[in-house]
This record gives sequence, structure tokens and C-alpha cells, in this order.
Amino acid sequence: METVERRVLVVEDERAIADAVAARLRAEGFRVEVVGDGPGAVAAARRIPPDVIVLDVMLPGFDGLEVCRRIQAERPVPVLMLTARGDETDLLVGLAVGADDYMAKPFSMRELAARVHALLRRADKVATAASIKRLGDLEINQAERRVLRGGVEVHLTPTEFDLLVHLAGRPRTVLPRERLLADVWGWADASGTRTVDSHIKGLRRKLGADLIRTVHGVGYALEVDR
Ligand code: CA
Repeated sequence: METVERRVLVVEDERAIADAVAARLRAEGFRVEVVGDGPGAVAAARRIPPDVIVLDVMLPGFDGLEVCRRIQAERPVPVLMLTARGDETDLLVGLAVGADDYMAKPFSMRELAARVHALLRRADKVATAASIKRLGDLEINQAERRVLRGGVEVHLTPTEFDLLVHLAGRPRTVLPRERLLADVWGWADASGTRTVDSHIKGLRRKLGADLIRTVHGVGYALEVDR
């Protein structure tokens, strides 16, 4: 994860501050783009798209609060807002429109870099948590394509994994074999339903026979507590 170059959009019209922030973040290994006005910021956020935005409130065009509102409406992205010292209104409105953190000017570049790293760590954690599905004692991590049952990791083939994800998408619901074949294997006809059966057998052997119920003549259901 850390080897991927993370992109930061810096939105600040005061050239000296923008340059200092950009230089510090580049030194931290980020790819940085700087824009100096509201409309440009919204366009850049669409084009890049950034992993984090460092956003000044006072901007030409429209202000940072409006920028934040528009960007968050399109795609959630962590925002570190830069406010004038003591401006509580900007701070409160900023948090209301989706800023995640703020710093009052003047700030140290070291502190700024630390805040940007912290925002990214938090965003990564949220992304990982969102891709983990827990059903009873079954845990499916879709980002890492790993499965645990009762806390013990179980190694599945790629097809077994995809099949399990489909069954887990609708627990306790009978999914017809033809439907699983179409969704997992992409086959439109029912000639390969034996393929589904053999992969179900594999899942049962690895995850436990009690996990998947057979509904004869119809299909399969994942028997877990939601
Ligand atoms: Ca400004």
C-alpha cells in the first residue's frame, strides 16, 4: 500500500503558503497539485482524483466551504481545512460540509504533514473495514480476498471465493444453481450446473459441511446468522 504514490490536491491562493505546503508534501513522497481558486479546485478534484485535499477557506471564485460541499457530494475524500486563526464559524461550517480535520494559520509544515498522513491512515482503515463482511463466525475480507471461520483462515480457490461472496450477499436465501452459474462463471445456460455442485463441495470441505444448505432441485443457501 505504501509504495503507491498518494495524490494530494492543495487549494490555496496565497502563493507563498501554497508553495511551502506543496514542497513539504512532495518531500514526504506525495504527488502534489496546486490550484488557487474554488472552481479550479472542484475541476481538479474531478480530474485527479486526489487521496487527500488540503483546502484553504478564503479563496477567489467561491470559498473552500463551497468547494468542500461540492467535492463531497460527488465523491467522499478526506479534507484538511485551513482556517484563519480564531474563526470558529469557518471551522464549524467546514466540519458540517464534510471536512475531516482543520488547522488554523499559521501552522508548521511538520504538523501539516503529520495531519495528512493521519487522514490517509484513517481513510485506509475505513476502506478496509467496509470490505469486510461478518456473518456468524464467518469473516470475508473482499479487499484481501481472505476468509476466516471461527478466527481460523481458510484458503479458497478464486472461484470458491467468488461463489462464497455471492452466497454471503444473500444469507439464508436459496440461490438457484443456474443463477450462481450465471453470476459467478458468467454462463448463460444451465449446462454447467455440475460445476457449481463441485465447487460447493469444495467450500463445504474447507469451511464445514454445516455452512451451506442444499435445497434439492433448486440450489444452495448459506446458513449463517446475520
Ligand atoms: Ca486564501
